Amino acid sequence: MSVEKTLSIIKPDAVRKNVIGQILSKFEGNDLKVVAMKMKQLSQAEAEAFYAEHKERGFFGDLVRFMISGPVIVLVLAGNNAILKNRELMGATDPKKATPGTIRADFADSIDENAVHGSDSEAAATREIAFFFDAAEIAH
Ligand code: GDP
Repeated sequence: MSVEKTLSIIKPDAVRKNVIGQILSKFEGNDLKVVAMKMKQLSQAEAEAFYAEHKERGFFGDLVRFMISGPVIVLVLAGNNAILKNRELMGATDPKKATPGTIRADFADSIDENAVHGSDSEAAATREIAFFFDAAEIAH
């Protein structure tokens, strides 16, 4: 097992529902450690740049509008196999298909408003962590 870092975002729907703490508890209860965290209102330009890989998709406009609809929490999680572990804890993109007990099964209402983002590969984690955090903002 390798110690990895991954980027998580608690999306505007989950912040509005007041479940930030419950989501953080799922991470901490599964041996993922928060090593950086901030609340942030994304600008349209930031949301478009963060999700640039999806810009040709039909849902891109809706995704960007949703991601700037309120503040988000951006955080870096560290732990053994953190990237895959976080993806497992999140559950499927569509909460209706998410395994019971996962974050999306518990807290998300729809594929458009699905509570959390998590990096899906090492390359994505490196890019996404650098998108939001300077090295000095991440605990060692
Ligand atoms: P993830 O890695 O599980 O978050 O899923 P993807 O990388 O495939 O998609 C990124 C995000 O785009 C998802 O978390 C959703 O918020 C959004 N998304 C994906 N598919 C759809 C869709 O069909 N409709 C809408 N409105 N949003 C979608």
